[in-house]
Amino acid sequence: MQNGILFLGDSFTWGEGLELYCDTPKWIEERTQQNGWPTLSTKQDEDGIRFREENRFSRLVANHFGKIDCVNDTNGGCVAGYINVAHKFLFDPDIRIDTIIIQFSILDREPIHGSFSCVCDFCKATGYHRYFEQVEHVIAALINGNLTDNQKEALIFFEKKTNRKATDNDFLDALINVRGIWYSNLVHDFYVNHILHWEASGKRKIYYIDSWDNETSYKLHNSIIPIDKKGIPLIGEDDRKYQIWTKWENSFEFKNISQQFVKTGNGHPTLKQHQHLAKSIIQFLEERQ
Ligand SMILES: [Zn+2]
Repeated sequence: MQNGILFLGDSFTWGEGLELYCDTPKWIEERTQQNGWPTLSTKQDEDGIRFREENRFSRLVANHFGKIDCVNDTNGGCVAGYINVAHKFLFDPDIRIDTIIIQFSILDREPIHGSFSCVCDFCKATGYHRYFEQVEHVIAALINGNLTDNQKEALIFFEKKTNRKATDNDFLDALINVRGIWYSNLVHDFYVNHILHWEASGKRKIYYIDSWDNETSYKLHNSIIPIDKKGIPLIGEDDRKYQIWTKWENSFEFKNISQQFVKTGNGHPTLKQHQHLAKSIIQFLEERQ
């Protein structure tokens, strides 16, 4: 039996882009190339993977406490996905998890029915497509009269939720309003149906890292999630503590990889930021022991 800390998050937790700090000739050269995920994903090698896994904040924290870091195998994530990842590790008989750190992603990314377990034909047919992320494409397709069948279904979903027709003048305003309510409900359900259960079973401690997306961050700070008490203050490059991700990010000379290695266009946290995230979590957890 191993003791582990579970880290739920998206590409920021997974460590996308840390490969670029690996000091092999290949990765030094890649710092001068376009390296968003579609490109970067094709260049993965053993050195890069090892470097990423050893240097992401989850590993730095776990090492400090003599535990293992439990992180999603694949890059990316959203609330609906966190549930599957959590169940994989929480039900693993060989790992005992007493702490869970949740880094929130962007709510636009959630599947339209809020779950990757939804068994409806639409979700299955669309591969749980993130229509809210693409709402502008759906509206544009509507205007151009070339909606795909799945986009039609998505539009019917939006019409039902807004109680409007897509052709109504105030459809977009109503949609923005409904989207806000939908996000609040999603966060509420995640907390009540999952987080509280994970906390109660196994007396686990659960703490939060703010979202890098301002709108999601605002929603979280005005939600049932006790982020004021259990949100981890993030230590900036100026050694000050921040509750809001974007303010923390701005305290750094390079607020993401693309500012340090400009050609890469990769907007993920730098190596230094991973080290600061680790320091923030370690300090926070030690104060609570
Ligand atoms: Zn569905």
